[in-house]
Amino acid sequence: MSVAKQLYELQELDLEIDSQEQALAQATSQLGESQALLRAQSQLQSEQKRLEELQRKQHSAEDEIEDISTKLAPAEKKLFSGDIKNPKELSSLQHEVEVLKAKRNQMEEKALEIMEQVELCETSVAGTGSELEKVKAEWQRQQQALSDSIERLKAVLADLKDKRQLLLGELSPQVVELYQGLRKERGTAVARVEQGICRGCRISLPTTELQQARSGNLVKCSSCGRILFLA
Ligand SMILES: [Zn+2]
Repeated sequence: MSVAKQLYELQELDLEIDSQEQALAQATSQLGESQALLRAQSQLQSEQKRLEELQRKQHSAEDEIEDISTKLAPAEKKLFSGDIKNPKELSSLQHEVEVLKAKRNQMEEKALEIMEQVELCETSVAGTGSELEKVKAEWQRQQQALSDSIERLKAVLADLKDKRQLLLGELSPQVVELYQGLRKERGTAVARVEQGICRGCRISLPTTELQQARSGNLVKCSSCGRILFLA
């Protein structure tokens, strides 16, 4: 195999390595938490917090109703017992019973309102929870696919790099240095020659250069400086 052909193969390998490495970097950058997942998680947290607050309010309203009832029962019993004969005392007790009843009604209305809010909030928490599960499942699926593709890319790259090492072993250090320099300078170091034209710069090559390249010598394009490779 001519040195030009070996270098051309090296270049093909390097281009393939570059593209696989780019794909690997892209896949790696997509690993990690997703914004959609974080959003859904924080929404659920704030809804759960609101639900807990409402439930606390509901309990304290219920406690208060019970408190009032505890006071109301003996007062009513006393009122209807017929034991109290003093009209002033009777009317004062009557007033006390009415005030307690009004207070209890008010608290019962409040408790009902809170209960409705609790129910709405529970529905909302359940909805957000199942939405979060969906987002999470999708995210896990994506992460798994990314991990799989990262593993595949790493294996492909390891294989390509092995091939590259083998090829480098067949080339002299001077030739490799020339190749690396041209690659750095021009992006590609080796140019194919097709129908007498350098594919690196699209210029017709002088017959002498073509003949030298054909004979297997390492020839650089007089126009773009790339190493010429005749297939
Ligand atoms: Zn050229």
